[in-house]
Amino acid sequence: MNRISSSLQSPLQALQTLFGYDAFRGPQEAVIGELMAGRDALVLMPTGGGKSLCYQIPAILRDGVGVVISPLIALMQDQVDALRQVGVNAGFLNSSLSLAELRDMERALLDQELDMLYIAPERLTQERTLELLQRTPISLFAIDEAHCVSQWGHDFRADYLQLNLLQERFPHVPRVALTATADERTRKEIAERLGLTEAQHFISGFDRPNIQYRITQKQNARQQLLRFLRAEHANDAGIVYCLSRNKVEQVAEWLRKEGFNALPYHAGLPADVRQEHQQRFLREDGVIVVATIAFGMGIDKPDVRFVAHLDLPKSIESYYQETGRAGRDGLPSTAWMAYGLQDVIKLRQMMEGSPGAEQFKRAERQKLDAMLGLCEIVSCRRRALLRYFGETAPEQCGNCDACLNPAETWDATVAAQKVLSCIYRTGQRFGVNHLIDVVRGELTDKVKQFGHERLPTFGVGEDLDVAQWRSVLRQLTARGLLNVDLDGFGALKLTEACRPILRGEQEVRLRRDVKEVMTKAPKRSG
Ligand code: ADP
Ligand code: ZN
Repeated sequence: MNRISSSLQSPLQALQTLFGYDAFRGPQEAVIGELMAGRDALVLMPTGGGKSLCYQIPAILRDGVGVVISPLIALMQDQVDALRQVGVNAGFLNSSLSLAELRDMERALLDQELDMLYIAPERLTQERTLELLQRTPISLFAIDEAHCVSQWGHDFRADYLQLNLLQERFPHVPRVALTATADERTRKEIAERLGLTEAQHFISGFDRPNIQYRITQKQNARQQLLRFLRAEHANDAGIVYCLSRNKVEQVAEWLRKEGFNALPYHAGLPADVRQEHQQRFLREDGVIVVATIAFGMGIDKPDVRFVAHLDLPKSIESYYQETGRAGRDGLPSTAWMAYGLQDVIKLRQMMEGSPGAEQFKRAERQKLDAMLGLCEIVSCRRRALLRYFGETAPEQCGNCDACLNPAETWDATVAAQKVLSCIYRTGQRFGVNHLIDVVRGELTDKVKQFGHERLPTFGVGEDLDVAQWRSVLRQLTARGLLNVDLDGFGALKLTEACRPILRGEQEVRLRRDVKEVMTKAPKRSG
């Protein structure tokens, strides 16, 4: 046996001598302890949190080969190379190998030469592979990207469902499932489907204390962005996320005119242009990339000082992942977002209009609702964000807009009743602008065309201005009191939840939108 484990005494020693790190991070040590003791574990850690070591170290120290199941075939070669460099005997089995390479790998496995073996799920579940594995000692199974087992998620893979056969075929081999994206329901699903009911859950490390979270209401989003950049990040590198390719190009061009070194990035640009913009972002100082979500995967730039969203992400997971590209160096950074009613309408329509099973859409809607909840919340955003990932946090973080500039709320019960009954009386067929015209008593052509000036709700809302009514409608929509129609015109409809409000049985308190939220970022320490 030429396995490296014979020279290592403990997990800490493995960490230090093989990987060159001083100490474990977060729950790594605890996870390794579970696996060393032969028990299962479920690990939820953000990207970059250090999941790999959680299974690499016990795989190396325990007898037998550690089998890592990963859907990311393209990354296997890199992972194996990195391990070989530190002296770990690693290999992989996937469809990229030639027949001869495959036979070599199988022989190495049966000769017990391997510390670790990476396998794609579709290969692992083949009978031939299972039989092979049953002929050799196995230290553990690590199921990476475990959320792929969830039928609710975007990354569902049918092959993952079959991984529950591991517990039947290898009942004495500890298993660890790892993922960076999983809300509580997905987590339960992972545990159930992979037969990890006994597994301890390790959830951690989601807090990014150096990122200041700010979500502001859209008035004139570009001007708001400009003021934010000039006041706080004049010469800094950052990312501005937009929903569409078109908008990406327009915003990039406009920022250039305003004197910023801004470059567009989206999947519709030629590969060489994308490559060049990415390289400039990484190498030059103070480059702003204006991008769709296509940008960011695998980009590891430590000194991104801000991430700005001009459009609403469609889930908290996306928001967390995108804002998480800021401040990897630990220095103060800002996650800034402007969002408005149109964003909600647009996203809801996109979701409804997309093909897909009703079940899947419902899950998407729930994720968007959670994101909206985060936007409209008046208490600490960080606490809400962390709670979503199952972590507890203090009442106040002191480094988000809600903590720095507590929002005022107001009793909007009467205003809500007015506009809800206006929606009802106009037949639930009209969009925001017309509804506001009716409630404020504007005699527009459209109002006259439908005879809406004769309704009892016409002009009952003169006390609030247009921006205030937009704010009311946005918040009512975000809270699920209103639905947006799919017809493309964004007609608002009442939901069941409106009843107690219309009957006067429920108070509605809403956040008072401030004209401009501009907190000065804390002084930089470095
Ligand atoms: P994940 O799989 O969770 O995205 P990785 O396992 O790839 O994260 O680890 C992210 C980075 O953190 C890697 O460069 C890894 O070497 C490093 N890392 C992991 N654990 C430690 C540690 N205890 N101390 C220092 N660096 C670590
Ligand atoms: Zn806070």
